[in-house]
Amino acid sequence: MLLICLREGESSAAMGRIARALELPDESRLQRWRWHEPGLLCVGVSAEEKESVLERLLALDEVERVLSSESSCRGERQVVALPNGASFGAGLPPVIAGPCSVEDRSRTLEIAHAVKEAGADAFRGGAFKARTSPYSFGGPGEEGLEVLSLAREETGLPIVTEAIEAEQLDLVARHADVIQIGSRNMHNYSLLFRAGCHPAGKPVLLKRGLAATLDELVLAAEYVVLGRRHAGHQGAGALLCERGIRTFDTNLRFTLDVGAIPVLQEMTDLPVVVDPSHAAGARRYVPALLRAAVAAGAEGVIVEAHTEPDCALCDGVQSIEIETLERLVRQVRLLSELD
Ligand code: PEP
Ligand code: MN
Repeated sequence: MLLICLREGESSAAMGRIARALELPDESRLQRWRWHEPGLLCVGVSAEEKESVLERLLALDEVERVLSSESSCRGERQVVALPNGASFGAGLPPVIAGPCSVEDRSRTLEIAHAVKEAGADAFRGGAFKARTSPYSFGGPGEEGLEVLSLAREETGLPIVTEAIEAEQLDLVARHADVIQIGSRNMHNYSLLFRAGCHPAGKPVLLKRGLAATLDELVLAAEYVVLGRRHAGHQGAGALLCERGIRTFDTNLRFTLDVGAIPVLQEMTDLPVVVDPSHAAGARRYVPALLRAAVAAGAEGVIVEAHTEPDCALCDGVQSIEIETLERLVRQVRLLSELD
């Protein structure tokens, strides 16, 4: 498949020229290949025709870029680097830690300093939370993002925080070093594409849907990667995150799919990050799941941690204490040395 990015709009003259370049009988055939984002057309061409079609398309003024599907998640293994030098997909797997939701200013800063002291590489916290129940706390919003920026300023830790709708991307990208897209939004394709295209070019951490197959996760990531390529950003800039899926057993909140780690690494070149917290649903199970993930080759972890988990605004039962985090950071180092 080829994704044709048009320079300006979809005038009928432009569509006519594109139809001729594709050797279509008329431009009406192009209509069914229009993407849901304006200015994009997705067309299927055979492997034999691909080179010549590409050449004809790129010769047209109205065509800005042509992206081809096979190349977005495959090629060379991708590395996603954070501003503090930690990188996913190269060397030691970074540990992202922090509360589920951003808390009030002093508590959030207290946790950020503690997380830094414990040796974590990045700070997490949701200012906007997509909650299953409309009666649950939805996060502090913009005020929370400002607190996160302050936490970065004070600790130097890069910030991982979620955007739950496309309209928030400008705001979230101003404060985030990595934009998280949560499980409940894995199928929100326009959010994925727009997060990828956003001019700030921030990498995206994409969490696996609660009941999504690995193929679905990889295709969802493809929207991010295509968005980034459409915008001309360098690197795939997407992290896949396994966070537990729904199965028939309910002893844990979700079932951590450890097998997904090597399989995703075979299916794509994107770094695979694991969230043991949402899978475990209870603090006492988090260390075992986190260690299992790193032993299985996870290229990063994201874990909920709090200075006083039982008082957390959200997901306190699964948030680990800072001493546990400190121990786990050491164990990540040891485990990642195993081959
Ligand atoms: C989170 O990381 O804060 C979160 C809500 O996770 P998920 O989208 O995986 O449920
Ligand atoms: Mn949570």
